[in-house]
Amino acid sequence: MGNKRILITGSSRGIGAQTALYIAKNNPDTEIVLHCNSNPAKAQDVKKEIEAFGCSAGVLQFDVKNRVQCREIIENDIKQNGAYYGVVLNAGIAKDNVFPVMEDDEWDDVLNTNLGGFYNVLKPVVMSMIENRVKGRIVTMSSISGLAGNRGQVNYSASKAGIIGATKALSLELAKRGITVNCVAPGVIDTDMVEGIPVDEVKKMIPMKRLGTAKEVASLVNYLMSEDASYITGQVISVNGGMYR
Ligand code: NDP
Repeated sequence: MGNKRILITGSSRGIGAQTALYIAKNNPDTEIVLHCNSNPAKAQDVKKEIEAFGCSAGVLQFDVKNRVQCREIIENDIKQNGAYYGVVLNAGIAKDNVFPVMEDDEWDDVLNTNLGGFYNVLKPVVMSMIENRVKGRIVTMSSISGLAGNRGQVNYSASKAGIIGATKALSLELAKRGITVNCVAPGVIDTDMVEGIPVDEVKKMIPMKRLGTAKEVASLVNYLMSEDASYITGQVISVNGGMYR
């Protein structure tokens, strides 16, 4: 991936941070553009770790729900530092509740962050990839919940299923330009997002009887970002310990 810029949204912690570290460690000529919203200090810690691998890194801070902010900050970064080779659309939230008592803001926040973020982040990025004739890579983050549905997650399942549809459609539009667009669908991964879940009960439902690690997701994203993955596009690939097939 030599000297290529990769933006990873939501890389202040969790899967995004591990993905940034994994790509940096394995591709030291890459420039990692980290991204955070409410945790800039954590993003700075990830930046230091990346720089220790001899890789360069920067940090952008914006709320993926805020279309104007996304456009301004991303366009400005591209203008100053050049087009991205790749984007990992990873930032996301869950606000679980059973549907009959779901609050309006639980629906709106999850849809506006997870699915709204697809449009708000990728719109300014994709045009510049096209203009610069970058044969790049886009990887989006869905979930087993978007594939199979999950009780208490009607909002989250809708947003993550929407990402799958959007990924497939965009892959068709960009295929002839050599830009691949794929989707990773993790199962239950041990990050802040799953804090408070009944781990022992959940493990019983996973054929491998354990949660996945962020690194196990990161290694797949790294592969999909690589030149070796040049003929894979429009795919949804699960990382879930055999939970859903
Ligand atoms: P974490 O909660 O650990 O991290 C979430 C990341 O998203 C943080 O970096 C956070 O930034 C960022 N983020 C959240 N909201 C916004 C926002 N409005 N604007 C910008 N950035 C935002 O989550 P995970 O690492 O577990 O999840 C990463 C992705 O993987 C998500 O899309 C999630 O839905 C998906 N996923 C996770 C699974 C799991 O079991 N953990 C399973 C399946 C999918 P900051 O901290 O700076 O605010």
